[in-house]
Amino acid sequence: MSGLTSSFINNFIEVLEKKPKVLITTHYNPDGDAVGSSLALYLFLKAFDVDAKVLVPNDIPDFLMWLSGSEDVVNYKQDTEQGLYLIKNAEAVFCLDFNVLSRVILFEDELLKSDATFFLIDHHLDPADTFNHVYSEQNVSSTSELLFNLLIEVENKLQKKIINKAIAENIFVGIMTDTGSFAYSCNNKETFIAVSKLIDYGVDVDKAHKKVYDTYSENRLRLLGFALSSNLKVLPQYNTAYIWLSRNDLKRYEYKQGDTEGLVNYALSIKEVCLAVLFVEREDRIRISFRSKGDLSVNIIASKYFGGGGHKNASGGDSYKSLEETIKDFEDILPLLENEIKTALSDFNK
Ligand code: 5GP
Ligand code: MN
Repeated sequence: MSGLTSSFINNFIEVLEKKPKVLITTHYNPDGDAVGSSLALYLFLKAFDVDAKVLVPNDIPDFLMWLSGSEDVVNYKQDTEQGLYLIKNAEAVFCLDFNVLSRVILFEDELLKSDATFFLIDHHLDPADTFNHVYSEQNVSSTSELLFNLLIEVENKLQKKIINKAIAENIFVGIMTDTGSFAYSCNNKETFIAVSKLIDYGVDVDKAHKKVYDTYSENRLRLLGFALSSNLKVLPQYNTAYIWLSRNDLKRYEYKQGDTEGLVNYALSIKEVCLAVLFVEREDRIRISFRSKGDLSVNIIASKYFGGGGHKNASGGDSYKSLEETIKDFEDILPLLENEIKTALSDFNK
């Protein structure tokens, strides 16, 4: 953990002054925080005439494509040649909303080959030591909130006003989505102070919320309905519920990137459930999302058994077995977790 140091601020200001070629990148399956923070930084750097580009590993969900700057983003999966070119030519790389380079999945090796200066702005546990300049805090809602703190400090130091409505909207969407619309990871009043400042910059909370959450396709809503009615299993003995989606299920509902976002939270919404899991069968792996209540650390479960990690109450991992085998592996682990789950739930209910 290293908070916002004056050396980080100074190194950032050096980027604004020396104007190296900047690459901003984020994790695979970029979410609202990943995209919001990347675009906010992009727009801020552009205001200083820094030659910056945002490179995402794969598709940005449609519900984020209204954000300013999203039209300029390079998608590595769709435009690999351009992505490789950007990585090769970058002199400074900003890694946002992830803690280890492997989370970009598709171009980790290329990043490792780069001799650019690497900046990390992130709120996940255990940042890797491969970054030159690190601003990492775990007890903060989102990377977007961290970025906002940084940009305010930079503005103060330079005595300039750069943050505008477009930048504020990106930051707001990052905070809103990473807190499930201010439901979790926002017990610090600083998050709400940040949001009140963002409103001063012109963010329309109602509108931003509707643009992100009330823009489902019919298929996405039906996939949600199907998952909850047909593919939800509740295990009362372990206070656990899980949902699974096979490749066929995804195909039937014409799955698009982002369509399963938030789905796992429905499993956690059952009163007696403390551990919720979503298994999604992708082309080459089973993607697993974990959520928990209270002190149950799903990041430990994700890293110990499924090569992943994340936050205490929200983590992800992968399995390279079949969907059935992965679910069986998970069910086999539950007896080992039973006591921990029971303790966490009873503490939570106090
Ligand atoms: P999600 O379930 O929404 O994909 O991920 C939940 C949280 O866990 C996110 O904050 C995400 O950054 C983190 N996370 C997801 N997958 C992984 C993973 O494979 N490794 C690590 N270290 N973190 C992950
Ligand atoms: Mn985040």
